[in-house]
Amino acid sequence: MQADHFDQQKLLALAAEDVALAQLAHRRRTLPENAAVTAAEEAQRTLTADVVRAETEVRDLDREQKRLETDVDGVRARADRDRQRLDSGTATPKEMTSLQQELASLARRQGDLEDQVLELMERREAADEVLATAQSGLDAARADQATAEQARDAALAEIAEGEQTHGAQRTEVAGTVPEPLLALYERIAKQTGGTGAAALHARRCEGCRIELYGTELAAARNADPHTVIRCENCNRILVRTAESGL
Ligand SMILES: [Zn+2]
Repeated sequence: MQADHFDQQKLLALAAEDVALAQLAHRRRTLPENAAVTAAEEAQRTLTADVVRAETEVRDLDREQKRLETDVDGVRARADRDRQRLDSGTATPKEMTSLQQELASLARRQGDLEDQVLELMERREAADEVLATAQSGLDAARADQATAEQARDAALAEIAEGEQTHGAQRTEVAGTVPEPLLALYERIAKQTGGTGAAALHARRCEGCRIELYGTELAAARNADPHTVIRCENCNRILVRTAESGL
């Protein structure tokens, strides 16, 4: 293919925009900020489970305490009734003995229940602490996630801005390249998954980093400046410049 030597130079600007766009796409795919967001989400899930567990424990202990307190009330009421009966002076001696035995038993039972309430209150205090720790951990994880998301969004906005800038510049450069040459570039770019042209710099193809030698070098040296030459290794259009070393 023949193409104006000056138009061939424009392909280097086009390739530079494609490299910039590829780097931005790569950065978007491998954004470390994404990993930070995922880690924060993971921490939040774990801590949410911790909070739920601690809340359940506190609720269970509250229910248990209420149950014990109801039992204590029942024992007290029963003891009050027994004492009233004793104080009434109408109980038979046999009944009085039985009432006194029951009162002693009720006192033991009340003591037991009150010990259990105290023990439960201690457990409740510990559970409260666990809950508070989990809750503050969760708050911190939420804040971490918000921060990580902000950082990620800022990075994505920066990438989007870069893509817009380089996309516009690419369109502008592409608009100045004659159609057959541009079509060839695009076809090769699709094959390489990147750029369709590279500078020949110090006898080396800057696309694949292979140095030209022998007949390929001689052909490049002897080719008319307006003839489009290609790298035999990577197939890219080789753009000759003053630094080509020919
Ligand atoms: Zn090459």
